[in-house]
Amino acid sequence: MKRFFTLFLVALIIVHVQGLAQVQDPVIDAIVKEATDNSQLEKLAHELFDGIGPRLVGTPQMQQAHDWAVAKYASWGISAKNEKWGEWRGWERGISHIDMIYPRVKTLEGMQLAWCPSTNGKAITAEVIILPDVTDSIAFQKWLPAVKGKFIMISMKQPTGRPDYNWEEFGTKESFEKMKKDRTEQTDAWTTRIKNTGKTNQTLPVALEKAGAVGVITSNWSRGFGVNKIFGAYTKKIPTVDIALEDYSLMYRLTESGTIPKISVLTDSKDKGVVPTFNTLAEIKGSEKPDEYVMLSAHFDSWDGGTGATDNGTGTLTMMEAMRILKKIYPNPKRTILVGHWGSEEQGLNGSRAFVEDHPEIVQNLQALFNQDNGTGRIVTISGQGFLHSYDYISRWLNKVPEKFKDKLETRFPGTPGGGGSDFASFVAVGALGFSLSSNSWLYGSYTWHTNRDTYDKVVFDDVRNNAIVTAILVYAACEDPSKTLRDKSVMPFNAKGEQSKWPEQRKATRKGGLDQK
Ligand SMILES: [Zn+2]
Repeated sequence: MKRFFTLFLVALIIVHVQGLAQVQDPVIDAIVKEATDNSQLEKLAHELFDGIGPRLVGTPQMQQAHDWAVAKYASWGISAKNEKWGEWRGWERGISHIDMIYPRVKTLEGMQLAWCPSTNGKAITAEVIILPDVTDSIAFQKWLPAVKGKFIMISMKQPTGRPDYNWEEFGTKESFEKMKKDRTEQTDAWTTRIKNTGKTNQTLPVALEKAGAVGVITSNWSRGFGVNKIFGAYTKKIPTVDIALEDYSLMYRLTESGTIPKISVLTDSKDKGVVPTFNTLAEIKGSEKPDEYVMLSAHFDSWDGGTGATDNGTGTLTMMEAMRILKKIYPNPKRTILVGHWGSEEQGLNGSRAFVEDHPEIVQNLQALFNQDNGTGRIVTISGQGFLHSYDYISRWLNKVPEKFKDKLETRFPGTPGGGGSDFASFVAVGALGFSLSSNSWLYGSYTWHTNRDTYDKVVFDDVRNNAIVTAILVYAACEDPSKTLRDKSVMPFNAKGEQSKWPEQRKATRKGGLDQK
């Protein structure tokens, strides 16, 4: 009897402890096991980042990536398709060769910007000059003929190639403060220099081109060691190349000291006319409520200085891997699971905005959407995006995620609705429940976001595996939830001026893009 009583007590304690902890769920255990023991992330990353490469809108590589994703889903038994939503200027990047040939020979680190015109197989050799400090647009017009036959440097020379964290660690407080002060003054002065021409950063290269310059040189330093941001060219006939801080400032100093460098530039590229743009969509049909949707979301396109590994290769892979795992472990979801791999996010959330416009039947019946798009790091923040009841369902779903995968994960309820930044905002704008699975930084903003260093080696696979697990469990929980989510909006906060902020407005997708740049 005594022994029986002891057993009874032990049983009571166990029940109590389990009541506090998470209820064991074999589906969640199996999701974790599949993600851990049979991860496809490295293989997918190699195929997409190394094999196909960057995914700039309108390029053949973007199309290859769409086709690759559809084939990959098919191989996992998931039905997928590429859905056309618009057209873009077609362009294909070729080689960039940039060499200094005077006063000494040095191959320069740099590359043509996206949509850069081709030099038609020939290297252009010419002197380099710096955009002068003119008093006004009249003085600029007077100076303009001097650009004929020259390459023009239109970026500021940075006072340091060391990132601030490096100064902070090793410099004296005084020298760090002095550098920052100098940099602010020089940056302001350079902004004035551009403004005084009467042109903007966009129209200045075009003015130089019209006046007979042979090329435009920028250096868009990204405040880390050896890292530049690579965006698009505005010139239509002459090349625009970005040169790394080290080489750019070398040429700048030479020019300032009176030794005018000569460089030779060859850029290859192909104009591809007008090409269609797509979203890749894949679906696991719901068994009980097929007309209600839980969505996974990540933009598929990228800039093309690197390979778009963390913007947004890692978000893409998180969603693909979560889909693969869900299909294997949870093949008959109660609600329909849909993934959107969006095109042309980088030019203004165009793929997801188009989807929202084209599929009201899905958007109206969206249980929740989970988007990831800020690098390779572990998910650390989920905001309720201003939805009043988000604390209820997000907390319940997150509760199903085992503790070790949400270590340091914070929630913000109700949060404020995101007006942009990534594709969840396209859904939030129409009052649909789009959430952002926000990652910790790994210095994303300076080192990989839109840079020439956004490559495979920056991916932290354990963190991406973690994110695939969190995403798959959230999707599973949202599918199983007995109740449909509520969309009531919270009262918007007042700003410092005493004005009530407004819910972000829906914005139209650009359905024909880049064509004016021809
Ligand atoms: Zn992105």
